[in-house]
Amino acid sequence: MGTNPVTRKCPVCNAEMPGPLAEWPALPFCSQKCKTIDLGRWLGERYRMPSGGRTESTESPSDSEE
Ligand SMILES: [Zn+2]
Repeated sequence: MGTNPVTRKCPVCNAEMPGPLAEWPALPFCSQKCKTIDLGRWLGERYRMPSGGRTESTESPSDSEE
């Protein structure tokens, strides 16, 4: 039986993260950038109002005016 290294993948960009854990200080993300992206998503979900009373502005047909 040989070593069976578990290939970690970044949940944001799905990039493989081989090597020791010490090589990836932003775990479970591949980089600080992906960590920020994930955090942004999380905050976006939290602040999103489920079916709020916000009315969508009617789209005005923008005809090309010459
Ligand atoms: Zn990533």
